[in-house]
Amino acid sequence: MKSKSGGMGLRVLLISLLILSLIFVFMVNITFKSPSSGTKLSLDNVYRMAANGQIVRARLLDQDAVVEGTYCPEGVAQGGNCRGGKAATFHATYPRSDVSTQQLIDRIGARAPVAVDHQTGKEVSRLVLTFVLPLIILANLFGLILLSKGGDASLGEIAGFGRVGKDRQRKKATVTGVSFNDVAGAGEAVAELSEVLDYLKDPTKFEAYGATAPKGVILFGPPGCGKTLLARAVAGEAGVPFISVSGTEFVESLVGVGAARVRDLFSQVRALSPAICFIDEIDAVGRRREGEGVSGGEREQTLNQLLVELDGFEVTAGIVVMGATNRPDILDPALMRPGRFDRHITIDRPELEGRIHILKIHARGKPIGPDVDLEFVASRTPGFTGADLANVVNEATLLTIREYRTEVTAADFEEAIFRVVNGPKRRGRVLSVEERQRTAFHEAGHVIVAAAAGRADEVHRVSILARGRAVASVQMGADAEATLLSRTQLRGKLVTQMGGIAAENLIFGEGSTGGEQDIEQATDLARDMVTRYGMSPELGPVRYLAHAAEGFLGNDIPLGEISIETQTAIDKEIRRLVAEAQAEATAMLSRHRKTLDALASRLDEEETLEGETLQKVIAPIEAEMATERIGATGKVASRANGTRTRRKTPVG
Ligand code: ADP
Repeated sequence: MKSKSGGMGLRVLLISLLILSLIFVFMVNITFKSPSSGTKLSLDNVYRMAANGQIVRARLLDQDAVVEGTYCPEGVAQGGNCRGGKAATFHATYPRSDVSTQQLIDRIGARAPVAVDHQTGKEVSRLVLTFVLPLIILANLFGLILLSKGGDASLGEIAGFGRVGKDRQRKKATVTGVSFNDVAGAGEAVAELSEVLDYLKDPTKFEAYGATAPKGVILFGPPGCGKTLLARAVAGEAGVPFISVSGTEFVESLVGVGAARVRDLFSQVRALSPAICFIDEIDAVGRRREGEGVSGGEREQTLNQLLVELDGFEVTAGIVVMGATNRPDILDPALMRPGRFDRHITIDRPELEGRIHILKIHARGKPIGPDVDLEFVASRTPGFTGADLANVVNEATLLTIREYRTEVTAADFEEAIFRVVNGPKRRGRVLSVEERQRTAFHEAGHVIVAAAAGRADEVHRVSILARGRAVASVQMGADAEATLLSRTQLRGKLVTQMGGIAAENLIFGEGSTGGEQDIEQATDLARDMVTRYGMSPELGPVRYLAHAAEGFLGNDIPLGEISIETQTAIDKEIRRLVAEAQAEATAMLSRHRKTLDALASRLDEEETLEGETLQKVIAPIEAEMATERIGATGKVASRANGTRTRRKTPVG
């Protein structure tokens, strides 16, 4: 629709420009064409001939500043003809500034008839040509530029500068048709929103009890966790219109424009009430007001306007403003005061149950095969957001379509999870034989160490195919799900992370750039163990670093000043933990060298190993460890007995 009307407008404008140009040329022609003919004389000559009586008749063209007429070059004029010789025509121009029409009439008209042509038509056309036409052409050109820019821009838009921008028309309220059934894993949030729902359904109810209405709700949570979806669901459940804007739309460099947009938005919302107005990324406007320099003025005005609008709603207005952000820490306290955005709802990444539910919602209506176990898929995707899970289901379906199959299989889901985590397989990047072998050993190293650390069943898949930014990948299971990890478990993780580099060193005698990410992750983990979890005997159970805010946000920041000695000790401890982990990984790999070689060569051949095939290759490690355990149990048991005996003594 939009492009059609835009195209029409463009055509009309082009045609009118063409017509205007033609008129322009025509008028230029009339205005500047000199109609005079005959011999060109100087004004002095004309005066002289007039004095000699040689001019038969003359005409003054006032606009052109031309005098033209008939004269007798050889004889004298008499009774409208020449006596002696033939009559001829002449014309002469005169400087309008120096000579007035009356002067000419006086001097030429003394002996010959002089007519004056005021050329009114020409005067008008000159006026049109110099003032009106250029204006019209300019206006047309302006329209042309606007049309080619936006397709649906109009002069009204220029007048509406400062409104909610180009999207004004698109900011139409929608009745969402989304219900709470479409939102999974957000039970608490739904319960908290029930009051809002009541209010929207019957705005007068609150007034009857003299209570204040729930005007503002802020949804906190990482991107993709369903904040927008939840707001839409509330609108859908209440059956009220839903208007959505982004906070960034109010951010302008011109002071007052953002505030004008806020005003305009709320006037739209008021007209639709009861309604929900959803402001995504509200931190763009609602940022704390302090030390902001030049751009602060505009932001402050915008924020003030938002507060004024919020305060201005009446109890019965039936308007709820819902803001979403993943940076609650930077919001201005004034925004969160009672009576404004006083309801705060946190939506975090979904737990296992939530993930199962979300997967089920998105699998609706898709040809999911019988071998797909969504609960298993959910268990494989800890830390995924709702949007990630929706993406997994979609990717799996796309794979099915791409291969012309009729049902989505479990393998499609495997691949889809891998894609969402690591990006699609990188095609076209061919590893050299040496690189491939190195990668195979590197990845095999991680797997072998994981198995040797008793985590064999957590390894789901290993691949030397390049994905996203990573050269290769190992996919580990569910410990991201665990909320409590012991020191031993964390050390196990650290050792596994160093497995790749250890394998490269063991086999090739040196490491490569492929270990960068491992080192980064291992260092981060070791730092956390030392500075946050109090797991270093050297530094004791003291917290040195904290997240900027708990949960999903921010970077690590030091808690107060740290002395140089402590910092040095921290660095030393981190180095020690990582180095010990690498040494342990190397020892494990040497012990299971045969299995390492076997796994690496299988990887080199098959590129990807997963599930049972993978477990079979690493089974010897399990067996060996079981034997070791049996051997050790005896020792442990006897030691335990000893301990018991020793303990008994003092008690007894
Ligand atoms: P946010 O606003 O938090 O960034 P969205 O609401 O835009 O996230 O979520 C993006 C998409 O992810 C939704 O359209 C939906 O398909 C899916 N999604 C996210 N959370 C959920 C959920 N709890 N239940 C079902 N689908 C979800």
